[in-house]
Amino acid sequence: MTAPSPRPVALVTGGTRGIGRAVVRRLAADGHDVAFCYASDQAGANTLTKEVDESGGRALACRADVSRADEAGSFVKRAQAELGPLDLVVTSAGIVRDGPLLTMSDEDWRTVLATNLDGTYHICRAAVFEMMKRRRGCVVNISSVAGVHGHASQTNYCASKAGIIGFTKALAKEVGPYGIRANVIAPGFIETDMVADLPVRAREDAVGSIPLGRFGAPEEVADMVAYVSTAAYVTGSVLHIDGGIVL
Ligand code: NAP
Repeated sequence: MTAPSPRPVALVTGGTRGIGRAVVRRLAADGHDVAFCYASDQAGANTLTKEVDESGGRALACRADVSRADEAGSFVKRAQAELGPLDLVVTSAGIVRDGPLLTMSDEDWRTVLATNLDGTYHICRAAVFEMMKRRRGCVVNISSVAGVHGHASQTNYCASKAGIIGFTKALAKEVGPYGIRANVIAPGFIETDMVADLPVRAREDAVGSIPLGRFGAPEEVADMVAYVSTAAYVTGSVLHIDGGIVL
């Protein structure tokens, strides 16, 4: 175990791209040391580690598949050993494998549930015990507007994201007495690789249904993570950031 850092320590899943990367950058800028994991993007991980180091913080990048309990557990243990006890956990790693229910393969169903929902469970289960012992900590799980309202051709994704909401509310009740908060952020369309392949027509339709008339930026989701991580009386909440798409 290294000497405790004077800086708070955050752990972020899916840190190499999109929302997770914006969260890592924001938390580092706000003074955290940050451990993050990713699936395969070694080059992205190296670049982000360098950025955090240059900002004066410590970064720890780990290749870890959150759908695997052993890899998620090792990542959490390594983060605690190298950076210190975790103050904040943000689960952003997620994937889509869209398609109508009738033609969805079992593999696409299982892979999405395993990454998005099991991944959240694996990371939280591995992290909260040490938080409970310290009687402090905060968990922020990234769900989606799709997990609240549903979206055609995304039964697997919507089930995983709705599951994250139920999981987090239960967790908030379970760990609240230990001084730990757990909240969900439910983004709408955010400009990341996840939506980069949307057909032009689908993108136009989506933008047309958003009162603010645009997709969100990953940095705007990171702003919300920063807010909820310091909002001491907020727990078990689902914070929406969607440009008003569901109005
Ligand atoms: P993204 O740009 O596709 O990035 C996904 C990140 O997750 C990458 O860092 C990727 O690592 C990592 N990852 C994927 N599978 C993993 C696994 N099994 N183990 C560990 N890491 C894994 O996605 P995003 O748009 O930022 O989405 C982030 C979260 O926000 C997701 O949970 C997503 O469902 C949610 N969300 C996104 C939107 C949106 O419009 N973008 C809307 C609502 C909710 P590699 O770089 O190594 O592949």
